[in-house]
Amino acid sequence: MGLTSWLGDLAGMIYPNVCEVCANTLVHGEHTLCLHCLHDMPRTRLHTQSFNEIHKRLAGHTPISKAAAYFYYYRENPYAELIHRAKYNNRPALAKTLARMFAEEIMPSGFFDGIDLILPVPLHYLKELKRGYNQSHEIAKGLREATGIEIADNLIAKKAHSTQTRRSAFERWLNTGNIYTVAEPHELAGKHILIVDDVITTGATVLHCADAVHINEPSAEISVTALGFTHGI
Ligand SMILES: [Zn+2]
Repeated sequence: MGLTSWLGDLAGMIYPNVCEVCANTLVHGEHTLCLHCLHDMPRTRLHTQSFNEIHKRLAGHTPISKAAAYFYYYRENPYAELIHRAKYNNRPALAKTLARMFAEEIMPSGFFDGIDLILPVPLHYLKELKRGYNQSHEIAKGLREATGIEIADNLIAKKAHSTQTRRSAFERWLNTGNIYTVAEPHELAGKHILIVDDVITTGATVLHCADAVHINEPSAEISVTALGFTHGI
């Protein structure tokens, strides 16, 4: 084996050029997902409906203009694993790439038209320090790459909330209540804001962020997006 191919194999072991879903080797022209897995992704296509399942889940006192998510998020589904990896396995670039792919796919529908700023759901700074990144901010970066819309850091997590995994919808709601606030709300006056999270499950996190923006700057218009959206919970 020549040195070059040996080095190539070594690089392949460190940065395997395989599909993130099925682990098959990617061929020329493919990245992140093979064409088969890209085709089979359970896309929500909710951006095509002006009042969709996400709006229903987020129904509250803060009006939500547009809502979209890349794919349906089911437990045990290999596509859910993408988000898990991006969040917990130190793979911020994966979150960013998926978001860029998502934005490029739905951009022709006009979903991003009129949106002025992207606001990622914040992590409490201690949590971000521990993880090394905020996955929602990485998703925001991917959206910015595709759309050119700027990211703003006005949303702040005031306190760390404990893990959500084993809580009921109502407990989650209580748990995330009153932890978000908005810095420099005047910067959002009259702006159309896109709040970005990794997954919308109960919707409590995104809704509390939307409420925080709405309460602090009622003239802001609010839309939301995420990579994953859970079915009927
Ligand atoms: Zn694949």
